[in-house]
Amino acid sequence: MTKSIRCSDAGKDCSWSTTAQTEEELMGKVTQHVIEKHKEIELNAETISSIKSLIKEV
Ligand SMILES: [Zn+2]
Repeated sequence: MTKSIRCSDAGKDCSWSTTAQTEEELMGKVTQHVIEKHKEIELNAETISSIKSLIKEV
């Protein structure tokens, strides 16, 4: 099972998306992307849980 997430699903005007085999790996990639491209997003328990709700199984 592959997990995927798209930045546009979070309401961002951003074409970035990624896939990973595990939620941990996916969140690692998301964290890196947020740090690089969306410095306005504070990664706290609330934003992390809303990001996790956007993860799709493909
Ligand atoms: Zn983005």
